[in-house]
Amino acid sequence: MLLLAWALLAGLLPSKASASEIVLGPTLCHAVSERVVAAREAPAPLACGGEPRGYQHGSLWLRTDLRGLPVDGNDLMLVVHNSRFDRLSVAFRYADGFVAQSEVHGGDFGSHWRAGGQIAFDAPMRDVPVTAMTLRFDRLASAKLLRMRLMDHGEASYEAIALAGTIATALTLLLVCALYNAGLAVAVRRAFPAWQAAWAGCMVLWGAIWSQFHLFLFPGMAGALSAQSCTALSCLAITLATASAVTAIDRATLPVGLRRAALLSGIAVGILGLPLAAMRSGPIVELGNGLGALILLDLGLVAACLALASRRKSTDARNLIGAWSLPMLMLAALQMTDPNAIFWGGGAQILILFAAAWQTLWLSITASHKYAKLRIDRDTARIAEAQAQELARRDPLTGLLNRRGVIEVLEAKSRQGDDPDASVALLLIDVDRFKRINDQYGHDAGDLVLMRIASQIVRWEEARCNVARLGGEEFVIIIEGLEMTALQHFAESVREDIAACRYGLEPGGGVTVSIGVAQTTGHPDFRALYRLADKALYAAKRSGRNRVSFSSAHNDENDGHSADTGLGERHPLRGGA
Ligand code: GH3
Ligand code: MG
Ligand code: MG
Repeated sequence: MLLLAWALLAGLLPSKASASEIVLGPTLCHAVSERVVAAREAPAPLACGGEPRGYQHGSLWLRTDLRGLPVDGNDLMLVVHNSRFDRLSVAFRYADGFVAQSEVHGGDFGSHWRAGGQIAFDAPMRDVPVTAMTLRFDRLASAKLLRMRLMDHGEASYEAIALAGTIATALTLLLVCALYNAGLAVAVRRAFPAWQAAWAGCMVLWGAIWSQFHLFLFPGMAGALSAQSCTALSCLAITLATASAVTAIDRATLPVGLRRAALLSGIAVGILGLPLAAMRSGPIVELGNGLGALILLDLGLVAACLALASRRKSTDARNLIGAWSLPMLMLAALQMTDPNAIFWGGGAQILILFAAAWQTLWLSITASHKYAKLRIDRDTARIAEAQAQELARRDPLTGLLNRRGVIEVLEAKSRQGDDPDASVALLLIDVDRFKRINDQYGHDAGDLVLMRIASQIVRWEEARCNVARLGGEEFVIIIEGLEMTALQHFAESVREDIAACRYGLEPGGGVTVSIGVAQTTGHPDFRALYRLADKALYAAKRSGRNRVSFSSAHNDENDGHSADTGLGERHPLRGGA
């Protein structure tokens, strides 16, 4: 925005001296030959006023007497704004009859080219002033599009620096936006940023060639080839801009006919640009006017698409209107003022470059905002889903894993399966006579007991040991890699820890648990292990509660026998078995 404002102000404010423009008219006399000839001087007689004709395949001489013009003949530069010709030679005639000659031709502008599509000719400073100037164009495409200005050296170098800086700023902005949109298109896989990137890229190319910056790299492109490329690129840019605007709007929002008409008119502009670009002679101006009408139609159709979609509350259309409004206002303003007089002779093209940069910057920002919002929504949904899944794996009372959670953990371990011979044991812990605790102290006190037991056994949890509440007053511990003896001692410690804990069930209330243990090697199957542990638990309950009973896959396969560890202390909760 600031850059744009700066460029606008700097360009619109009058520079310290004003160049004098030479236009076809009484001060500029012309002569034409139908074939290209080598003569430096114009063949007599010269016609002053009127339009030259028949020069497109031959030579056109333009001669002006500088004595009547408000220019300083002792300090003079000529700037020409047209490069659709094969050869241009400029002769400055001095008061003493000396003639200084310089020449450029297609493919070689030497050191004469300037940023902003200009060619500068320097009249060497001598003791006497320049009094007249003759230009000879060979195979000039159109004299109507010709524009020339005379200025002093100081003004010329000020203009050159200001033009180069302004154009470079606009091109850098556009290039950044083109790359950003290309990245966005790859990241989000949407058509709109891809079209935007193509459009901004096309504008960068157009701007680089129009301003002649490309001559740094490809000096051989100087002249008509560059001018022709510019025409083709500017038409292609309109096609791409139309495609990007229409594809940005949701298909359902627009009538198919309007959408197609806008796209077709955009494509027609691109196609018509090709013969216009290829033309070196013939009705270039007329074809240009026809193309202008087609461009207006295209703009009208795109505007209709945007207006309709915006009425139907399309945010994309509103963003596009925000992006397009400034370029459109500028185009309208250009109709009312002489665009060539602004931006140091850079004229409308510089405004178009900045308007394009504005448009693509705006759209890049709104697109990023939209995609960032979509991303945040997606991430929030993912987090919510992960939280829901985690909740589904947890027991709400104790916060321990539930049956589903512990089965998932076991399955994940089975899949990883780093050591197929590692042993896995399941301790099934059931509170003894829990119904009585509920009956005697109330359900809430029963809950507190469950939570206390959970906090007691969760201390064992680590990478190779998982703790869960299966439901009711039944807990499990799944532990890996313990030998039989170690496992027996572990199970005993769990039982003793729980029994030693205080539960606030005074007077005289203690809580014990019975534990059934099953162990297996290889990939653990929860259901099989649980069945074995349950049998062992049943045995522990049967033989008096508050004890650990051990079962193994081997035992179960033989006769379902469960072995009491014998480490347990008989201490059934009030009432006994
Ligand atoms: P045993 O020693 O044979 O296991 O006897 P028990 O009383 O512990 O066994 P039983 O299966 O008869 O009773 C379990 C009781 O656990 C019944 C039920 O009311 C209670 N219970 C189940 N879930 C909860 C819970 O979330 N909170 C509370 N406070 N009680 C529960
Ligand atoms: Mg039970
Ligand atoms: Mg019980």
